[in-house]
Amino acid sequence: MRWILFFVTLIGSSMCGREKFFGDQVFRINVRNGDEVSKLTQLVNSDNFKLNFWSSPSTLGRPVDVLVPSISLQPVKSFLKSQGLEYSVTIDDLQALLDNEDEEMQYNEGQERSNNTFNYGAYHTLETIYQEMDNIATDFPDLASRVKIGQSFENRPMYVLKFSTGGEQRPAIWLNAGIHSREWISQATAIWTARKIVSDYGEDPAVTSILEKVDIFLLPVANPDGYVYTHTQNRLWRKTRSLNPGSRCVGTDPNRNWNASFAGEGASDNPCSEVYHGPHANSEVEVKSVVDFIQKHGNFRCFIDLHSYSQLLMYPYGYTVKKAPDAEELDDVARHAAAALASLSGTKYQVGPTCTTVYPASGSSIDWAYDNGIKYAFTFELRDTGHYGFLLPANQIIPTAEETWLGLKTIMEHVRDNLY
Ligand SMILES: [Zn+2]
Repeated sequence: MRWILFFVTLIGSSMCGREKFFGDQVFRINVRNGDEVSKLTQLVNSDNFKLNFWSSPSTLGRPVDVLVPSISLQPVKSFLKSQGLEYSVTIDDLQALLDNEDEEMQYNEGQERSNNTFNYGAYHTLETIYQEMDNIATDFPDLASRVKIGQSFENRPMYVLKFSTGGEQRPAIWLNAGIHSREWISQATAIWTARKIVSDYGEDPAVTSILEKVDIFLLPVANPDGYVYTHTQNRLWRKTRSLNPGSRCVGTDPNRNWNASFAGEGASDNPCSEVYHGPHANSEVEVKSVVDFIQKHGNFRCFIDLHSYSQLLMYPYGYTVKKAPDAEELDDVARHAAAALASLSGTKYQVGPTCTTVYPASGSSIDWAYDNGIKYAFTFELRDTGHYGFLLPANQIIPTAEETWLGLKTIMEHVRDNLY
């Protein structure tokens, strides 16, 4: 019986080579001051317990989510108790969530193959997302085109969808998603958004009027190598897949690699860290490709980066507690966007500058955009608040995308009406 089960599991899963997380759990740990932050950082960095931060610690009083492998459960619990750190278990069976996600994906792939459709309420491989981008461009040739902006470290193409109703070098909006590969709801929301833009043009006066004045560029998978790796090797991979000479650890955090106070606070110079900033700014070809494209274009007014999770809508700065010169306007726009988002099903977002809302983070995309004259720079941290974390079930894709769209539209309308 055991062998039959084993065999069925083996042939039933095209992802059998992926890393397993049997018995692993996610802990939510309360940290209230600098002393507790350093105790926790020490624990995670010690490398003895093979822990992995799902959210970065800070002194702002936000709890920290940490993935704890099954073999480390007892020692980590003892450590936390001995240090007086309070915690709860947010995910008690990580592998069960992964198995569910995997089964749903495979079932859906079968359905899509036989119906020749793309199900927006499912997670997809890179190849399928690229194919759907092509389909959108083919279905709406006067409105959308698929543009290659570069190649990843492992030589995968990087595609954006350009939405334009004409005119040379109109002011433009950049929508970015999937820079952190494990944040699957971001890539899924992005491709849904692409279809929404083409469907609503000519139907929804807001979309129509936005596209009469500005072009939209949407990059649904900003880290294609990482994304493929989450499908084939490790679902929880965050960074790029570039090699680090002299280190056994792979990858750079592409959201610490932009030329905005590079290598400052909230980034690490250790290649094994999840927030490793890389050897120099723009060292990651995925980041460099976007930077080059935006600079060559020269007329971007808005840059929005989609991440998960935590339900936050943030604006510069991440690298300093200093207030951005446009902080009041950005805060106002963000509050309106968060209210529009919440109007659909009550999903609550917290709004504020990155550094004082979550934690300091240098070298991030929106700080680079802002410091390079792109005033309307925002980061969304999509659903949820930690119940599923990065493993948000597929049945939440469409509800997430629909509410996020209301927030995005609010921002884009403001950009339309305030083309500085
Ligand atoms: Zn992220």
